[in-house]
Amino acid sequence: MRKYVIVGVQGSGKGTQSLLLARDLDLVHISVGDIFRWHVQHHTKLGAQVRRIMAAGELVGDDLVEGVVRDRLEQHDWNYGFVVEGFPRNRRQAEFFLESYDIDGVIHLDLPDDEVRRRVQARRLCARCGMDYNLIAHRPEVEGRCDVCGGELLTREDDNDAALAERLRTYHEKTDPVLDLFRQKEYVATIDARAPIEAVQRDLRGKLGLPAPRPAG
Ligand code: AMP
Repeated sequence: MRKYVIVGVQGSGKGTQSLLLARDLDLVHISVGDIFRWHVQHHTKLGAQVRRIMAAGELVGDDLVEGVVRDRLEQHDWNYGFVVEGFPRNRRQAEFFLESYDIDGVIHLDLPDDEVRRRVQARRLCARCGMDYNLIAHRPEVEGRCDVCGGELLTREDDNDAALAERLRTYHEKTDPVLDLFRQKEYVATIDARAPIEAVQRDLRGKLGLPAPRPAG
């Protein structure tokens, strides 16, 4: 059983790296942001509660977030473990998490703010299946269309300059201290997230003492 948390600023590749890790090691990938986006897209009550907060780049209230994480982990579909992405994002969430679960490692994807801005401006999301694209590193075959399902590619509602500035500010103010807390109690593997996708994955596997990624195909 392996239980990891992946922490990093927006655009640092948390989603991509956790999916690669989860797929190879049969871990369940739990992204709190994806859960919220699903609710917004499907117009649920929870979606209505979080939509405006997310669009402004602010953090959703701790009680709501902790409830979502608890419910998701209580499904116990994670026989081989999990990778939690986008949580914890502040000290209170970190304390809740540390009290409730033993973690084997914290993956910290480190990316300078300038590079974050460059990447986030290039980010697109399929409106239909949720697949992520990046006009720098992962362009769709047909402009504006998803390679997998043909859905329309849109910019995330919170990927605008004002919301990004707010998310960066919140990240440094609230999430940087989470890393300090984890450093005291757990193993934090800090990875240079400027490197290409495969190199970042190799680096994090090495630092967590995991086998190297299986070659694709
Ligand atoms: P992400 O996809 O991780 O960037 O999350 C998108 C948005 O969902 C964030 O900007 C927050 O509004 C909200 N969100 C996701 N995870 C959390 C969390 N742990 N605490 C509070 N808000 C969150």
